[in-house]
Amino acid sequence: MATDIETENTALLQFLYACPAGLVEFSAAGVIGMINPAAMGLLLPMAGRPFVANLFDVFEGCAPELRNMVQQFAAPQGTICEGHRIITGRGARSSVLACSVSKLTEDRYVATLSDVTEQVARERRLKQAETWFASLLDGIDDVAVLSIDATGCIDAAMPSATRQTGFAETELVGRCFAAFDRPDRASATLQPGEAIAVARRDGWHLHEGWHALADGGRYWCQRLIALRHPSDGVAQGFAMILRAVTRQHRDAADLRRMLTRDHLTGASNRAHFFETAERQILRSLRDGTPLALVLLDVDLFKRVNDEHGHAAGDAVLREVARRCEAGLRPEDLFARLGGEEFVALMPEASLSAASVVAERLRASLAAQQMEAGGIPLRITASFGCSALGGGITSLADLLAAADGALYVAKRTGRDRVVASDPGQAAA
Ligand code: GH3
Ligand code: MG
Ligand code: MG
Repeated sequence: MATDIETENTALLQFLYACPAGLVEFSAAGVIGMINPAAMGLLLPMAGRPFVANLFDVFEGCAPELRNMVQQFAAPQGTICEGHRIITGRGARSSVLACSVSKLTEDRYVATLSDVTEQVARERRLKQAETWFASLLDGIDDVAVLSIDATGCIDAAMPSATRQTGFAETELVGRCFAAFDRPDRASATLQPGEAIAVARRDGWHLHEGWHALADGGRYWCQRLIALRHPSDGVAQGFAMILRAVTRQHRDAADLRRMLTRDHLTGASNRAHFFETAERQILRSLRDGTPLALVLLDVDLFKRVNDEHGHAAGDAVLREVARRCEAGLRPEDLFARLGGEEFVALMPEASLSAASVVAERLRASLAAQQMEAGGIPLRITASFGCSALGGGITSLADLLAAADGALYVAKRTGRDRVVASDPGQAAA
């Protein structure tokens, strides 16, 4: 019998050894127990020394989130991430690893690593082409071309840029590309650094919004920032293409905004939330990135209506939405689900990060009184938070878990934030 097990173990070890994918077995602290040659080949160049002892130390520079993902995974076993993308190195020597991690037992984890640099490059080209072809069908008036350096500074402008914006080349060069943004509330834009980071990661970043004209006016335009790879393969800055969009298109954009916004508060409406959230969740599941959801319900709101009238109630809802939106990042999706219930979907946020944000929103509502049609009022709200992982794998799961947490917040006194128990859903 013992020899059977021995034979099996030997066969297993031989398989692991010859396996073309990198395999690493490690503890909750990241200490590596077993590592096969393929994983060694991928990790050694990153470690910068002739041995690797701790997986988290190796990933500290390029994927510090891995440590948290592993340590915050509360279920006794299961998949922690699948195909999580890790970008290593710089320039021509940069490569992309897909990393999947499973928890086997309390202190045993296994990571599989594979180099997907080529695949990512292919996907990038495909996405770029897709975006361009999709927008070719739109009524585009005019295209302007500029060049921006690695930090987001305009370093060259073609005559087309002057024709479109009215700015001379000397007025454009040397300034941050985002200095010409003229955002309004409805078209919240990413910080320039974030747009550059996204373009560097995905190969491109597309934004639609108001852009400055030299005469002090503004025009609606699509802006594509695309990573530029010269012949030697080293990324050096970006190309920026501005496409002026016709008035007809502006009207279509207004109409779209009307269809996607809640008429009372200006937050996203329920239908738009469900459509966008489903897509975002699929993306997070595919990329193995975290995503959290926060549900909030105004406390004892019926009283506001009863004591001060419906108009005062409406004013409170508008102010709640305004304060919440001010406390969220542009990439968060904030929506009114109905009545006095709102939701925020937070890509790239863990359960604990979302709880911190929810606590900030709670405080911003409770701290200052509101002017509801001339009536000063104090209102509070209760919050329930949930996140992908530990058995929560869909929008329905996220909403159910957050709703359960919100119920606990209401029952235990209102005006508080409760995070769902990540272990519960998996059990
Ligand atoms: P709880 O703390 O348990 O959430 O108590 P609550 O009073 O907030 O909850 P309840 O669900 O009993 O009351 C919600 C109220 O919200 C009832 C409804 O009339 C009011 N409401 C829903 N939509 C609107 C709206 O668009 N405007 C106004 N002014 N009131 C609304
Ligand atoms: Mg309610
Ligand atoms: Mg309520």
